[in-house]
Amino acid sequence: MAEAYDPGNIFAKILRGEIPSHRVYEDDAVVAFMDVMPQGMGHTLVVPKAPSRNMLDADPATLGPLFGVAQKVAVAVKKAFNADGVTLMQFNEPASGQTVYHLHVHVVPRFEGVPLKPHSGQMEKPEVLAANAVKIRAALGG
Ligand code: 5GP
Repeated sequence: MAEAYDPGNIFAKILRGEIPSHRVYEDDAVVAFMDVMPQGMGHTLVVPKAPSRNMLDADPATLGPLFGVAQKVAVAVKKAFNADGVTLMQFNEPASGQTVYHLHVHVVPRFEGVPLKPHSGQMEKPEVLAANAVKIRAALGG
């Protein structure tokens, strides 16, 4: 049986405003903010407000708005960083690489010949995350 959703997870705390994040987008259903251990410049996380551990227990009604915003963010990061492409990733349970148990989609700008950095690797400087968030917000038109 799937494990229960834990409202003490780090993204739930970010959604409740209990810990800070560099937000680039918010609407009624979805928030997007910078990943603190980016796998590439501009790595952004797109997170539904509705609670679920991952895709396996999510309400299907959550997925349309989530992927609608993931697409908007993908277009915006490509523009913001003049990227050659964009990788979207989404992990379910530890065996897949999931480390935070609130559904989310990774959006990572990609550049020809530049590999992804390790997953949950090195912390980025807050000032770099803040500067990248400004660029993404501008590309999103907000
Ligand atoms: P997962 O492994 O669950 O797919 O991805 C979790 C992601 O969250 C990782 O890429 C990791 O770098 C990121 N992350 C972990 N803790 C925090 C945090 O406190 N704030 C932010 N913004 N990202 C985090």
